[in-house]
Amino acid sequence: MIAQDSIEALKTRLDIVDVIGSYIELKKTGGNFKALCPFHDEKSPSFIVSPRKQIYHCFGCGVGGDAVKFVMEYEKLNYPEALEKLADSYNFTLMHTNKDNKSHSHILDKLNVWYQALLTQNQIALSYIKERGVQNSSIKKFGIGYAPKSNITLQYIRSQQFTINESIEMGVVSYNEKRKQDYARFAERITFPIYSANGNIVGFGGRTITSNKAKYINSPETYFFNKSHLLYAYHLAKQTLYKKQEIIITEGYLDVIMLHQAGFTNAVATLGTALTHQHLPLLRKGSPRVIMAYDGDKAGHIAAIKASKLMSSSGFKGGVVIFEEGIDPADMVEEGRVEELNDMFREAKPFIEFVLDEILALYNLRDPKEKESCMNEGISYLKSLSPILQEEYKIYLASHLGSFGVSPSLLKFNMQENINNSNNVMMQKKIYRDMWELSLIKTVLEKPEYIKQILAVIDPKLLQFHSYEFSLALQGQKDVAEIMAINIDETIVAFKDEKSLHAELITFLIKYYERELRKVNIASNISFKEKVFYIRKFRDKIDILKRGKLVSLND
Ligand code: ZN
Repeated sequence: MIAQDSIEALKTRLDIVDVIGSYIELKKTGGNFKALCPFHDEKSPSFIVSPRKQIYHCFGCGVGGDAVKFVMEYEKLNYPEALEKLADSYNFTLMHTNKDNKSHSHILDKLNVWYQALLTQNQIALSYIKERGVQNSSIKKFGIGYAPKSNITLQYIRSQQFTINESIEMGVVSYNEKRKQDYARFAERITFPIYSANGNIVGFGGRTITSNKAKYINSPETYFFNKSHLLYAYHLAKQTLYKKQEIIITEGYLDVIMLHQAGFTNAVATLGTALTHQHLPLLRKGSPRVIMAYDGDKAGHIAAIKASKLMSSSGFKGGVVIFEEGIDPADMVEEGRVEELNDMFREAKPFIEFVLDEILALYNLRDPKEKESCMNEGISYLKSLSPILQEEYKIYLASHLGSFGVSPSLLKFNMQENINNSNNVMMQKKIYRDMWELSLIKTVLEKPEYIKQILAVIDPKLLQFHSYEFSLALQGQKDVAEIMAINIDETIVAFKDEKSLHAELITFLIKYYERELRKVNIASNISFKEKVFYIRKFRDKIDILKRGKLVSLND
């Protein structure tokens, strides 16, 4: 059998657009891609691929699923065969459960526990951590430890019956060619265990407390440890980021720890690398707004521009926060400036604006030649965006250049084709779609934490058009065609937050009870007494609703 860990590791590397795009031609349409369905005969495309949800669905024949499912159906393979096939084309070696990959994570677990115990005995390491403002509860939560001198670690590894080979494979030991001897990768360093998205330990980060030149190091690339796919503390941030639909990405482990300590439990960090395409599948999970927090130095600005371009052209919502030079989020938490941080994250500059402003700032706009270069750079960036955003931000760019004498009409670029392409595939089926009810269903699918609240006031019977789909969504049946169709359709948007859900429910229920009231008024099959009873009951409900309060279904 293929090890579950291994399947997860493979899946995080797959981007559905990439996988399906290698079989059939995909065209971008809004946030999704479309194509002629490879599973049924058709003349106009009703096959949709969603990079945000990492699923595909055909509105014509109803097939759908994730990247692995597509390969299964397209190549007529069973599940393990499809996995092997994908692993092969992504240069990925799948591990099998009869091999001892359990012991691999075991050695990291063992070392981690040992490092943590050693930290309590090392005053220098402890005082460094305490000086940065890290509390004991955070030391525990993040499993911060201390790795001693190399030979002590090697001794420990041997005493635990691990072989040097597996220690090398897991990235904790290396071989020094010159000296012809093994050495522990982490020596005299504060250790930060790094976990996969599923919460398995896969490597370490280490900060020196001696005068070692390399301030921070990470585990080398191993089978499980791939820096450009992982995010530090993602497994701890997961719950909050799903709930808040927001993720904060910083550059340092200590920033993450201090942010969590201050209540920003949706903070993660890249592992000493830039944000890349390979991070996108993980970031898309739960479709959060992405806030990137960067240092104010030159390197920080360059990294922020790169990341913002990637985020905006990949359709992510969110923005950038730049810290003053020499100050990082960890410092601000330590200085108690939590409110200020809160404001900064809330007012993050949207990715596209950020990129355009940075481009504008690069040029002397009083010089006509430079202005032209600036305009060209701005336009070539805008072309990476969706047609609607291009239109929107063309005006933004023009108005900023315009104050130095460029008229918006100069900023022409070919939009016609894009606009024609983004037609509405979804309207091909001529069944009536009630957008409000569909939004409610999308809310159930994307924000299951609201289900209880919704069910207190509504049940499927109350829906006039989509009560069947609503029931399916409540049962969590995400794989049936009706639900996939709603899930993948970007024109259906879930209610934004609790407040708007509340308001929407009130409006809906007022209409519903007014309708019921009219029915009772003209009903001839109930007694006068019953009529009075129901009229009073519905009127009371409407009154309460009009005062902004929800009424329970069962009163
Ligand atoms: Zn089809």
